[in-house]
Amino acid sequence: MILIAPVVIDPLFNTFGPMKDKVLERRILDLASRAGIEGARVFEVDKSADTNTVNAYVTGFGGSKRIVLWDTTIKKLAPDELLFVMSHEMGHYVLGHVVKSIFFFAGLILVTLYAAYRIQAGLIARHGKAFGFTELSDIASLPLVMVLVGVLSFVITPVAAGYSRWQEHEADRFGLEITRNNHAAATAFVKLQQENLGVPRRGLLYKLWRADHPLLGERIDFCNTYRPWEKGTPGRYEHLFKQ
Ligand SMILES: [Zn+2]
Repeated sequence: MILIAPVVIDPLFNTFGPMKDKVLERRILDLASRAGIEGARVFEVDKSADTNTVNAYVTGFGGSKRIVLWDTTIKKLAPDELLFVMSHEMGHYVLGHVVKSIFFFAGLILVTLYAAYRIQAGLIARHGKAFGFTELSDIASLPLVMVLVGVLSFVITPVAAGYSRWQEHEADRFGLEITRNNHAAATAFVKLQQENLGVPRRGLLYKLWRADHPLLGERIDFCNTYRPWEKGTPGRYEHLFKQ
């Protein structure tokens, strides 16, 4: 799905084309080549047909890998803010986040299914009579399987969300190190929060179970304070930059 959705399924719903603003496209492609992405595919999609919210993302795998920019984002952000958003997406691209996520989530699903298998074996051994089945291969065990997978999914959600938040945080770090434009980064998130009607600071339970990105308030704080270059310390990803 990750391989074919960007090429086959996404274009069924919206029109994907090259960027219309050629000056901005040049700046984005220059940034991309500094990030070590040659021949980057940047697509502008006419999301304004569906929504006023603002977004950009990296998708695809191998030959279908690409950066997608909603036209709403181009309209609502100033050029420097947009460049930070793109540098964040380039961070995902350069750091291989899509492929790493595939392996991470495949592993997590494997562990979860194995746990479900072990738990239900114990439950059937103890309560098989009451359940009315004694073998897992009996189709009557399906509701038990569904309950266990449901409960275990709930239990592992904070692990999955935490992994996603970590990737997003590192993409923010990458974007700040390559643009060194803390103010534009912070105001980009303020606009994101306003345009998408986001809640900047949430409670711990929400963060653990629901937040697959760092909370907007925390991202803005990070953008305002992360400046290793001012102290002469090398950034974590500077060695990846060309020039
Ligand atoms: Zn991201």
